Amino acid sequence: MKMKNFTVSALFGFASLMISTSAQADEDMSKPEIKVETRKDANGKELLYMFIDGVKVHEVDVTKAPLPKVVTPGAKAGDAPSDAVVLFDGTEKSFRENWTDRKGEKSEWKIVDGALESVAGAGFLQSVGKFGSCQLHLEWAAPSNVKGNGQGRGNSGVFLMGFYEVQILDSYENPTYSDGQAGALYGRKPPLVNANRKPGEWQTYDIIFHRPLFDKDGKVTRRATFTVLHNGVLVQDHLVLSGGTGWKGPHAVTEYIAHEDKGTIFLQDHGNPVRFRNIWLRELKDRE
Ligand code: MG
Repeated sequence: MKMKNFTVSALFGFASLMISTSAQADEDMSKPEIKVETRKDANGKELLYMFIDGVKVHEVDVTKAPLPKVVTPGAKAGDAPSDAVVLFDGTEKSFRENWTDRKGEKSEWKIVDGALESVAGAGFLQSVGKFGSCQLHLEWAAPSNVKGNGQGRGNSGVFLMGFYEVQILDSYENPTYSDGQAGALYGRKPPLVNANRKPGEWQTYDIIFHRPLFDKDGKVTRRATFTVLHNGVLVQDHLVLSGGTGWKGPHAVTEYIAHEDKGTIFLQDHGNPVRFRNIWLRELKDRE
């Protein structure tokens, strides 16, 4: 491997340095197979050809380097693209088609001005569909009528696969423990910054989630990862999650518990009328 790197470095100087740096960021530096060839073009001019993992750089044969699928983006940032699964579009129909309570029955959450509102005591909202790794977009607003403080103010949360909570909280001038504020992986990791808008204002979460993998004995073979943008600001940067986020006491959370490849999404009823709108996701392939 060293010899190969040396050869590539000698040939490509600075460019190869970038390749090496990129390889270091990868989990397994030995993985990229780089081969370099010199060929002559029609005019006899020598050209360099690099093959990375067997694929020629700037391969034009689409059978060897298929063109990415076309996805039509939404009209504006935050709108659902053409390949999204829309989980709530502001209508009663999409609410009832896509969400139930935890028992799979009609939820007591309600629609107010086109937004889905948590109702105290109604319990978690549960998606009808099951999903694994995904890109999830949702918008939420803490109550404009500010009540309570700390964890008691504008508390909700979005649980991926029913296990991993990205905290929702009115964290605008409302201190609480850092791994419990908005944008935190609850009990596991505080957000990088506090990007909250004021109570009552709409806020966005864009979440890139890769599910954990388990072996047949239920042992974790790859941890879950989260990248989260809160109002367009990076708050979780490819976080490798160290376990579950389930509350287990004032200073304790749950560990990983083996689960299926797909699971339901929960929106938390924490007793506060937090609102939601424009919820959609794109299912992602797992990187084994
Ligand atoms: Mg919560």
